[in-house]
Amino acid sequence: MRVSVGVKSDVGRLRQANEDSFLVLEPLFAVADGMGGHIAGDVASSTAVDRIKESSARASASDPETLAQLVRDANTAIWEKSQSDPSLRGMGTTCTLLFVDDTRARIAHVGDSRAYLFRDGRLEQLTEDHTLVQRMVREGRLQREEAVHHPQRSIITRALGVDPEVSVDLVDVDLDAGDRVLLCSDGLSSMIDEASIEEILGSQRDPQAAADRLIDRANDAGGEDNITVVVIEVLDGGSATGMAETQNPVAQNDAVVTEGAPPPPPEPEPQRIDTPPEVPEVHVVGRRRRGKGSGIRWRLIFSLVLVVVLLAGGYVGTRWMLGNSYYVSANESGQLSIFSGVPEEVFGFTFQEIEETSGTSIDDLPKFKRAEVREGIKGEDLDAAQTTLSNLERLAADFQRESDNRPEQEPKRDRDNNRKSRNN
Ligand code: CA
Repeated sequence: MRVSVGVKSDVGRLRQANEDSFLVLEPLFAVADGMGGHIAGDVASSTAVDRIKESSARASASDPETLAQLVRDANTAIWEKSQSDPSLRGMGTTCTLLFVDDTRARIAHVGDSRAYLFRDGRLEQLTEDHTLVQRMVREGRLQREEAVHHPQRSIITRALGVDPEVSVDLVDVDLDAGDRVLLCSDGLSSMIDEASIEEILGSQRDPQAAADRLIDRANDAGGEDNITVVVIEVLDGGSATGMAETQNPVAQNDAVVTEGAPPPPPEPEPQRIDTPPEVPEVHVVGRRRRGKGSGIRWRLIFSLVLVVVLLAGGYVGTRWMLGNSYYVSANESGQLSIFSGVPEEVFGFTFQEIEETSGTSIDDLPKFKRAEVREGIKGEDLDAAQTTLSNLERLAADFQRESDNRPEQEPKRDRDNNRKSRNN
């Protein structure tokens, strides 16, 4: 089957780094959306894509089990990396992997990146998000429209790299000439609605133009997250040459591999507070005793005055920080708490006080939220921090209820029953 491909990945308007990765290695295509804070998200998604590329060189992914195994291998690679490097602990990634063979698209899927089928002007979502809100929709506790803007819509219930084992959904759909398959990260699907996606895929003849337009539209809508799209258009059903190309995809097509997000620009640390006056010069004075001559007394006096000024400045700066910055994290015993101050060290000092402690423990939260909470979720003011705290409490309660209702891990069932078929 011959296909024409358009692909683009963009950091968006608000993020400082692109943690999405993608793979275009005909007939394999993937989108992975990493998470975990700092560089970990990027490591997770690029590890997934790299491992899939490596494994696919050893085995053709033409049958569903092999395709799922590629995703499980990627899970193992990320999990092992996170276990060996504490700074990467808790990282994870979504992965939506597509294999296009002569007549079908097969998709192996974990997380909330999506695969859509665009056929005859209509868009159909092929994958089901592994998110808390999607579960609530399925159980009838939330309307589908409400899920789109739900504050907890980014909480995912399944990801690669967070556990040694992962359950992979498989989706299977027949393809016709003219069909388009869209893979995208949630930076697209959470910024623009399906009607807009449908409109763009219907109006842009060239897949690359469609990919560019989708990214532009998501950015116009705010670009709140990294955005990655892969548009695969089926040109015709299985010509002889198309078949030959898919037999040994990697060996032949390595040259056309485009992989991963463009290297992120050097990441400036987010500066949410003014740099406080320097404090630590204090120690230096004590050691500068060796000086001789009459200048020394003045220098000493000057130094002492400087120290007093710096200390006073430091004190004011510290009070300012304590009084003007709030964040939610966990206290020493793991209870969610509102802190005033900043979670980061400043010149080796920490500035924080606990304002409020909740009855909810960090362990009640889903794994991903835990990593974020451990790093500290900042709020503009005390009100914002209190809102964050009550959202987290509600999330924990929901998550606990979900876990209680969940019939075990469901790996087998997923693999066999969640398969979706379209036979026309
Ligand atoms: Ca994302």
